[in-house]
Amino acid sequence: MDEQSILSFPEWLSEIDENIESKIHSIVKENSISVEQAKKLIEEKVKGGFFSKKDIDFSKMTFKVENSFAIKVNQKRHFETRKVERKTVPYDPEKFTVGFEDEVEDVWEQYLIDKFTKKELQWVRRGTAEVSPCGTCDSRGLIRCPKCKGKGEYYEKCYKCSGKGIIENKCPTCNGRGRVNEGQITVVGGRKIGTGAGYSTREVQCLRCNASGYLSERCSKCSGQGQILVTCKKCKGSGEITCTTCLGYRQLYTCDLITANCKPSEQSFIVSPFEKVKSSWFNSYKDSEYFEIAEELDLGNYVKPAPNDGRVLLEGYDLKLIPVSRVLINDGKKENSIFIVGNDKKVVGVTSSYLDYKKVLIFVVLPIIVAITLIYFFALH
Ligand SMILES: [Zn+2]
Ligand SMILES: [Zn+2]
Ligand SMILES: [Zn+2]
Ligand SMILES: [Zn+2]
Repeated sequence: MDEQSILSFPEWLSEIDENIESKIHSIVKENSISVEQAKKLIEEKVKGGFFSKKDIDFSKMTFKVENSFAIKVNQKRHFETRKVERKTVPYDPEKFTVGFEDEVEDVWEQYLIDKFTKKELQWVRRGTAEVSPCGTCDSRGLIRCPKCKGKGEYYEKCYKCSGKGIIENKCPTCNGRGRVNEGQITVVGGRKIGTGAGYSTREVQCLRCNASGYLSERCSKCSGQGQILVTCKKCKGSGEITCTTCLGYRQLYTCDLITANCKPSEQSFIVSPFEKVKSSWFNSYKDSEYFEIAEELDLGNYVKPAPNDGRVLLEGYDLKLIPVSRVLINDGKKENSIFIVGNDKKVVGVTSSYLDYKKVLIFVVLPIIVAITLIYFFALH
């Protein structure tokens, strides 16, 4: 019965951590187990009910132990993308002094790793600025006022009569009712009509307002026109306003704007000579080291490569190293793997379970046969 250690690892791991080889060697050496130790650990699990006891008859099996390791790699990336847009703005000569260089800047020329304190950066691309006259105002800086169409004044609805031209006052005789008590009607000479008993509460139409309840009067503010001429509020009567395109600067500034975006991303994967290593095996393992490298590593098939539409600014790696021992158990018919992982020697990951064939027959095979028989029976009758 032999035991051996498997220590192969991809070359790029030593670029993340130059001492990775000695670390792997020492951790595997410290945690290597012999066949006898492996047997004992598995036996304890058998007692603990981990496996069905009668299915593992150690005396009939051969044991082989492979001591190795597993590394969980967490890759963090800062990925930068850039876009170029042509922008035109009013030309303020004091503000826009850049972009007039002779040579045009390459979009990826500036390396801004230290300036990425926020997600987005924007700047004028060198050598792309130009100044042109404003076509909207013919470089006058002023355009015709759209509100008064250049006249400086316009008609507005009369505020006093709300545009009606007349003002309606409540009739004082009938107090707006349109009807009056008959007794209120007076005739020339002051003699009242119908003052006799029984007539005093009779109502008749108000003659003064023609029963409408109000008296109309021509609006004095607008002379009955309903509208009044006012000075344009937008241009204060000048008929012109500041050009909306050049904001009065008479010229326009056009340039390429470069916008750089930096987004962080993360992905993790496992490096181990054993394929079956699970991420959860690392959960109890707390120690980790963080390494940062500036250049992108070629990790082959381990990770998705960075997209082509940008560049990696920063790459960081977090490595967790655990010892893993694979115990190969052969009962003469087939080989099964049991893993013993971590410094605490946890027995995990049985790759092929030891089934109780009698139970399988009773609870799986037999019901299937019964079901098929029943289906067959009912389908025929
Ligand atoms: Zn009246
Ligand atoms: Zn009016
Ligand atoms: Zn105006
Ligand atoms: Zn203009």
